[in-house]
Amino acid sequence: MSEEIITSATNKEVKLLRSLHERKYRKQTGLFLAEGMRICLEAISLGQAPRKLVYAASRAHDKPVRELIDACRGAGGRSLAVSEDLLSRISRKDNPQMVIGAFEARFASADVIVPKDNKLWVALDRVRDPGNLGTIMRTADAVGATGVILIDDCTDPYSLEAVRASMGAIFNCQLVKLSQDEFCAFAKSWPGEIIGTALQASVDYRTADYSKATIMLMGNEQAGLPDKLIDATTTCIRMPMMGRSDSLNLAVATGVSLYEWLRHRV
Ligand code: SAM
Repeated sequence: MSEEIITSATNKEVKLLRSLHERKYRKQTGLFLAEGMRICLEAISLGQAPRKLVYAASRAHDKPVRELIDACRGAGGRSLAVSEDLLSRISRKDNPQMVIGAFEARFASADVIVPKDNKLWVALDRVRDPGNLGTIMRTADAVGATGVILIDDCTDPYSLEAVRASMGAIFNCQLVKLSQDEFCAFAKSWPGEIIGTALQASVDYRTADYSKATIMLMGNEQAGLPDKLIDATTTCIRMPMMGRSDSLNLAVATGVSLYEWLRHRV
């Protein structure tokens, strides 16, 4: 089957894909970009076919590319063969991946946060850095957490930078957005632990109770956790700082606490 190869950056669908670098257009369309064969195939295996797929025309006959095209079309999406130059322009990278998909962004409601099977959730207060958020989604997925709660004004988990840093975990991670007040109200009826992490905490992270369903609550990169969120926790932990640095990077601190949670169960 020979397909028309799109080479023009002014093509309507290419323009739409390029617009997805901006939060405003992601919001308007409900779509976000994910690049690369492995991540797009991972999305399909988790039941999310791309709504749109662009692929290097030169790879049109590769088996995994065909698989992606079939999944995309089978789910009613559009697939387009494009030049490599256009892939570069869509991804804003010199050496682009050979496939880029536009997928539906999915935020869940707070109803999905249930204390089932002693599960773990990560809650992030006003996370600002997309690299941190993507790394945290990747780490949350690595320890088997159910999802990430985004409190108040967070960076967009569906920005290309966050999606890249998540390395595909974005597709296996439930995302819930709550305001600070909604989180505090929700916390009142949560039967498990809400473990806050703060430099001023007195409990060593190795001694906390990780046996129940847990929400691990992390503070903003600059300001840490505000008093209102600290009041919503059941305990607050700190990781010892032995050198001259006063804090860990947010994603590192999340990794240390999530692996401590995991250490208590495997
Ligand atoms: N200046 C901020 C403060 O006063 O909290 C530093 C924030 S730190 C870069 C970002 C988040 O990582 C903190 O809010 C906390 O959740 C976590 N964190 C970093 N280092 C930590 C430590 N040693 N103990 C507990 N939590 C830590």
